[in-house]
This record gives sequence, structure tokens and C-alpha cells, in this order.
Amino acid sequence: MDEEIQIEGMVFQASEDAGDLPGARRSVDPAFTKEDEAIDRSLRPKLLKDYVGQQKVKDSLSIHIKAAKERDDAPDHILFSGPPGLGKTTLAVVVANELGAQLRTTSGPAIARTGDLAAILSNLEERDVLFIDEIHRMNRSVEEVLYPALEDFSLDIVVGKGPAARSIRLDIPHFTLVGATTRTGLLTGPLRDRFGLALRLQYYTPEELAGIVKRSAAILGIQVDDEGAFEIARRSRGTPRLANRMLKRVRDWAQVRAEGDITKEVAAEALKFYEVDKLGLDSMDNRVLEILCVQFSGRPVGLTTLASALSEESDTVEDVYEPYLMKQGLIVRTPQGRQATPRAFEHLGLSLPLGV
Ligand code: ADP
Repeated sequence: MDEEIQIEGMVFQASEDAGDLPGARRSVDPAFTKEDEAIDRSLRPKLLKDYVGQQKVKDSLSIHIKAAKERDDAPDHILFSGPPGLGKTTLAVVVANELGAQLRTTSGPAIARTGDLAAILSNLEERDVLFIDEIHRMNRSVEEVLYPALEDFSLDIVVGKGPAARSIRLDIPHFTLVGATTRTGLLTGPLRDRFGLALRLQYYTPEELAGIVKRSAAILGIQVDDEGAFEIARRSRGTPRLANRMLKRVRDWAQVRAEGDITKEVAAEALKFYEVDKLGLDSMDNRVLEILCVQFSGRPVGLTTLASALSEESDTVEDVYEPYLMKQGLIVRTPQGRQATPRAFEHLGLSLPLGV
């Protein structure tokens, strides 16, 4: 039966399953699809030793986890930030496994009410790892309930109504919060300060991604040679999720159109078929460049204007398209807006307009 919880003078119904919301992750991440869910299950590394790349992040985590284990204590809360698909959720799984702890998963937008969070926290067990994806999207009143939980492992609950209402403080088990965000800038200061360890994931090098492609191919029983793996890696925008997705697409293409094995030529042909170009840009990325270079003749364009020209959300443009285009030196952010660089014109085979 649903339990009635009152916090800060408000009454909430805590739904029974609010303690664990596995299906509620990533509802708004456009880079994550149903297809990825199946891929994730089989390919997600379970331990640090299987996690390719991000050496600095792995080193910090390994020290953090080892020290906590030696103290026989729950480690400090950890924040992972970086663009979608770089392995933040995977690291949360790895942290729980390395600690031998139980992982509970939810996401910022899924915790709609403070009562939901109270239910999640009070259902935790000692040393659990609680993963909150898209933590920057948690609503502010929910966030405030989280502060004492993170700091003193306690939950402030108001019991009763009206003048008889009184606040009681409940102890909750010592747990470790692992937060993931694509936008550190949107995290409030007080929340950010409560993470003992904040780690930023970087785009992977083609060599690292080739390692991930080979690992995934071995698990999935796909034949790919070194050059084939590198060709897929090179076009995967520094992102493991895309590398895995492209590996599967190329496998399908190779099965139908080629002998089945993935070589450099097969990978290049297949990815051309799927409209992924040499820089790993797909038709949508190229559309961003076309809008900036052609429609706006290289002039700076505001984010909302760009988003509406693309029929996309501003968040998607900022989280998904922009970071990689900026990293490739194809666009820059100026105080007046987003602007294509000469490299973007070159990439599209256009000459620079006069005055740019
Ligand atoms: P995020 O949470 O940052 O959006 P995920 O953790 O869901 O990204 O990772 C996306 C996919 O990429 C997963 O299927 C995972 O298997 C794979 N992956 C991510 N990082 C690595 C890595 N370092 N080594 C191997 N595979 C990885």
C-alpha cells in the first residue's frame, strides 16, 4: 500500500516502486535508443579493468574505492560529467561492482516529488550505491531533501498536520550517491559541493575506441580486423555508445553486402551507406554546419534560432551536437552566438563568404 509522507509541511504519496526505477532512466536523452538498451546489457564493462580509456578517471576512482574499502566505510559521493554515451552509467555500475555493493538506479526527472526521493532513500540498505542519472534535472525542492541525506545520512520528515506538525529526523543507511550529468553548469552550487569526487569524462581517442570496438566484437562474435575496428572508431565521434552502435550496423551491412568479415574497406563502405562521414558526422551534424554556413552565411547564430532551424530542442543542440562539432573545430561559441569556422566551410566543400 502507498505510504503517506509529509515533508516540509507538504503531504506526498510515496509510490511503492519509487525505491528503484530501472525503466525511468534517460527519458530525454536523444542519443539513447531502445536499441542501445540491449547493446548495453551485453557490452557494459563490469569492472575497472574492463573499462577502456579514461585513465585519469579510473586512477582517481581506484584510489577512492580502495581507500574507502580499507577504512571499511562507504566512499564519498561521486559525480560524473560529460556528453551522452561516454560511459557515466557504466562507471556507476563499475563503482558498485568494485565495492561489492548493490546498485539502485533512478534519474533526476523520474524523482518528481520529494516523497519519491524520501521513499528511495529510506529503502536503501547500508553501503548501497544510488545512481541518479541526469541529476541536473532534479527539481529544487527534491534536491533540498537530498542535502541532509548526503551530508549526515538523515532525512527530515514532518509528521502530522497543522499546529500539531513536528519535524523528525530519520537516520538512513550510509550510502554512496553517484550522480551523472551532461551539464555541470546546471548543477546548483550546494549540490555540487556535496560530491567528494567530481570527475569529467573526455571524448575517447580513436585508438581507445578501436579497443572498445574490438572488445565488443569479441563479445558479440563479430569478425573485425584491426584496420576495420579503427575505421569504425575514427567515425564514432569519440563516443563508445556510437562505436558499439556502428559496429552492429556495419556487421549487418557486411553480412548482406560483403563476405561478412569487417575490414577497413567494408567499414568505410558501410558507414558511407549509413551517411556517417570521415569525421564521424552524420546528416544531422552536417545540417547544423549547413545552417551556419549557408543559411546564415557564416554569421553568429543564437542557440534557440539554431535549434528551431533544426527542429530540435535547444538542450539537444547543446548536449549532443555542439560539443563534438566544437571539439572538431568546426564551430565556435561567440558572445553573439554559434558560428561556423573556416574548417566547417572546407568540410562542406564551400568557399568562405566575403567578410567572414
Ligand atoms: P552515458 O551514461 O555516459 O550516457 P553509458 O555508460 O550508457 O554512457 O555508455 C554507453 C555505452 O558505451 C555502453 O553500452 C557501454 O557498454 C559502452 N561504454 C562506455 N564506456 C565504455 C568504456 N570505457 N569501455 C567499454 N565500453 C564502454
